[in-house]
Amino acid sequence: MECLLAGYERFRKGYWTENKRMFEALATGQSPRALVVTCADSRVDPQLIFDAQPGEIFCIRNVANLVPPYTPDMAHHGTSAALEFAVRSLKVEHIIVLGHANCGGIRALLEGGEQGDFIGRWMEIAAPARERALAASAAAPETALHVCERESIRLTLDNLMTFPWIAERVHAGQLELHGWHFDIEQGVLERLVDTAHPHDHDH
Ligand SMILES: [Zn+2]
Repeated sequence: MECLLAGYERFRKGYWTENKRMFEALATGQSPRALVVTCADSRVDPQLIFDAQPGEIFCIRNVANLVPPYTPDMAHHGTSAALEFAVRSLKVEHIIVLGHANCGGIRALLEGGEQGDFIGRWMEIAAPARERALAASAAAPETALHVCERESIRLTLDNLMTFPWIAERVHAGQLELHGWHFDIEQGVLERLVDTAHPHDHDH
């Protein structure tokens, strides 16, 4: 805890003080143009990777940057609620699904094992990506991981298109979807999909 509070002191005296005007302006409202859906992993920070300022990126973080298919039922849909706010209220123009290398969630999905109270059920969303990865790489587990990380990004793009108010905006040219992958070790951003029509993309 001490290092976090010491960090806050540095932030408050440094960055916050130097950017006081910006924070005052931000206090009146936000109008980010991009929504990033990424992993909760502590090593993947969109604001850092894209060198973005506060207010520029609306971010949804969860285990393995997944989006469930559109399911307006009685369950508590945290990810879908955040999506709805970003798309319908903030009217973001881009949704970037940012996956990453060495993803523990994807590794767990491939290896099975301990399912926990929530993680196993959550990762079921990515079952089709697992199938594609295993089919594509009957060989080394590292290959399966590589493929599965990318297939899960494509799957999330497909699931985004099941939300009627996302598909509608995509088809109207008001919203673009992107699927990118970040390699932590190499610091490399790989752009897998950049298209207004993910369904048209050849898997
Ligand atoms: Zn991850």
